[in-house]
Parts: sequence; structure tokens; C-alpha cells
Amino acid sequence: MINQIKKLSDTFAKVLESCPEITYIGDGVLRTKVKDVTLEEGIILGNKLKEILKRYRGITGYGRGLAAPQIGEGGAVFVTFVDDDFKVYINPKIVSHSKGLNLFRESCLSCGYLSVDVKRPVSIEIKYVNENGDIKSEKADGFLARLLQHEYDHMEGIINIDKAEPASIEFMSDDPLKAKLRDVK
Ligand SMILES: [Zn+2]
Repeated sequence: MINQIKKLSDTFAKVLESCPEITYIGDGVLRTKVKDVTLEEGIILGNKLKEILKRYRGITGYGRGLAAPQIGEGGAVFVTFVDDDFKVYINPKIVSHSKGLNLFRESCLSCGYLSVDVKRPVSIEIKYVNENGDIKSEKADGFLARLLQHEYDHMEGIINIDKAEPASIEFMSDDPLKAKLRDVK
């Protein structure tokens, strides 16, 4: 445990040095609702988010999403990294979600090396604009639904720890990629 915490804190020190754009709990920007952007603004912001998430991944080996407030920006944009590919969501809106919930141990770039159990709907539908300016509608379940909801919360000024199951806050497991979706009892 001590070794694991030491390893995580060494990695976090590298992140602080190499990704100075990232904002952390306590920064008001993470608590501010974003504003819709133009397509041009969305593309610029999306590229910036992709570049920073790529840099972060280069250090840590994980990190599957990054939202504008997490780099101090107030525009409605987030990016995901799924199946070795980045995807940009401009002016996203979750338009529906399932009644059923599941549980997942979430970590967040803005929470350092803390993780929490969060209950969220199993599936969602999200509308957004892509980098070509097309209005898209996407239905998601499984891990993708989880990731999109986490990133969308950043658009609303909400961080995963706000939705933590009581007493579930912990140091991240060594490999957050091993976290699995679990049924709600
Ligand atoms: Zn986050």
C-alpha cells in the first residue's frame, strides 16, 4: 500500500510538472457551468483537449476523457479516448437515460489520485456536434455510457466526488483500467 501510494504520488508529481493546464478540486472553474461554443471555437478547444489528454496519457498510461473546465476553459466541449481514438463532443446534451443504475469506481484527472464509487444510469442518449459540424445523436451503454456521463457532469460544474457513494473515497487502484461496472444491490 505504501509503495503504491508512493508510485501514484510520483506519477502525480510528473503530471503537475508536465500538464500545468490541468485544474484541480478547489478551482472555481470546475464548479462553473460551461457555455455553448461556435463550431470554430469547439474545434480549437477540442484540439487543445486532445493534445493535453495525450500528454497526460503519455505519463500515466490512463485517462479516457477530458472536459474544458479541467483545463480552465468555459466552453461546452469534452473529448474521449476510446478504442485508441480521440473523439470530440461539442455542445453535448444528455437527452435521455435509463432508469436502471450501475456502479463503477471512477477516477478523475481533477481529483489527483483519489477514486470513488458512483452510481449512474446504465445507458444514455447524447446529442452533440462533431468536428465536421454535423449534429449527432449517440446511444451508449456499458463503459462508454459511464464515461460520457462523467464528462458531461463537468459541463454542469459537477465532479464525480459530488456523487460518491458514502465512505467510498479511496486512493486509486494501481491500474484504474481494471475497474469494472458492477450491479447495484
Ligand atoms: Zn473528470
